[in-house]
Amino acid sequence: MSNLRANRTSASRFDVAVVGGGVMGCTTALFLARAGMRVAIVERGALCRGASGVNAGTLTLHMTRAALVPYAIEAWKMWMNTGAWLGQSVLATAAPGLSLAFTEAERGLLQQRAAARREFGAQIDLLDRHAALAIEPGLNPAMLEAAYCATDGFASAYLTGRAYHAALSDAGVRIIEQTAVSGVERVKGVFRIRTADETVSIEATRLVMAGGVWLEPLLAMLGIDIPVKTLVNQLIVTERMEPVMRSVLSIANGLLSMKQFANGTVLIGGGWQGIGDRERGGVETVPDNLIGNLRLAQHVIPALARARVNRIWLGLESETADAMPMLGALPGLPGAWVIGCVHSGYTSGPYMGRLLSQAILGEEPAMPLFDPARLIVPPGSSTANTVKPA
Ligand SMILES: Cc1cc2nc3c(=O)[nH]c(=O)nc-3n(C[C@H](O)[C@H](O)[C@H](O)COP(=O)(O)OP(=O)(O)OC[C@H]3O[C@@H](n4cnc5c(N)ncnc54)[C@H](O)[C@@H]3O)c2cc1C
Repeated sequence: MSNLRANRTSASRFDVAVVGGGVMGCTTALFLARAGMRVAIVERGALCRGASGVNAGTLTLHMTRAALVPYAIEAWKMWMNTGAWLGQSVLATAAPGLSLAFTEAERGLLQQRAAARREFGAQIDLLDRHAALAIEPGLNPAMLEAAYCATDGFASAYLTGRAYHAALSDAGVRIIEQTAVSGVERVKGVFRIRTADETVSIEATRLVMAGGVWLEPLLAMLGIDIPVKTLVNQLIVTERMEPVMRSVLSIANGLLSMKQFANGTVLIGGGWQGIGDRERGGVETVPDNLIGNLRLAQHVIPALARARVNRIWLGLESETADAMPMLGALPGLPGAWVIGCVHSGYTSGPYMGRLLSQAILGEEPAMPLFDPARLIVPPGSSTANTVKPA
């Protein structure tokens, strides 16, 4: 077995080259290698230090787009059972998920969002103030209504890279870190991957582009024009404090998401934006957005008035024109695949990667993929023929 592994890692010709080592690329690589393929994964930095290592770690159906709920449910089960497929823990913890309404407008939104997600299989119940306070006694009693989901919880995202690194090594994947891909050519059915420093030479019969917000320039290397929007998400973590919440809390309008980790720190997010882009990364926070996010957190859990901010950071999240994933074969390029731009993609990542691996292995994926062809901007046009759902 160890010889087989050594042979696999020394070869420069692979069955699959995966470009981008976030949760999407790593999971795809892992299941392909376990199915017997020779896999290389090429990552510009270290594994899972992009969005997959700096995200809020919420594993939730409340924030997942309704149509992605069936995928998120399967992925949630995977996260809660990492011992069975990943090997190492990312401290995934199940906790009740409460989405809250403080105004009549938010109550309408809450009911609408819960109904939409129930249609796709999420078990979400509406609770009155009394029932919500029984689950989360520290809540601001001014809250009007809550949507409750037991399929919720969180992981410690910074542990993701360590866990995948061990699993991929064990599966015989050649992990090439600190190496940026600068070009790809397809010659006689083989993908030749060029790297920025030209020290690594990789050839593969199949290619998986898994570059998060950098999918747009990566796909451009293949002559494919798919615009990818970059969201510069802000996160705030407090110093350790006494237990002030035991559920994963969000607001129906999506502007808040928070939970308290076992070590007492509270992680506060909700998609508030900072300054940055995919060329420079996250550059700086916007003070008003920081204050707004903190005020909202304190409004929901008044005990947070005693919290002190320990650290803030920004991470880059990707979105397509219709806010649905790109997951599937790239048209006109046999053997080339793409995975990314999955809303609440940390939650769904492991299952999305497993589905893509099934397709690459020639199996029928257990759930439908999301054809990237719909997102391609035809030459001479400025937009794809797709629209973002309301
Ligand atoms: C701050 C923040 C909070 C979030 N919170 C949550 C949450 O609570 N719950 C949830 O479900 N989702 C959350 N998300 C979304 C989630 O993190 C992402 O959807 C998911 O991690 C995306 O995974 P990925 O593998 O597609 O991208 P990434 O993790 O970004 O991986 C892409 C990788 O490609 C590499 N790469 C790019 N270009 C090249 C190149 N030329 N050569 C080699 N490598 C390259 C990058 O270095 C990067 O490591 C959050 C996102 C952010 C930013």
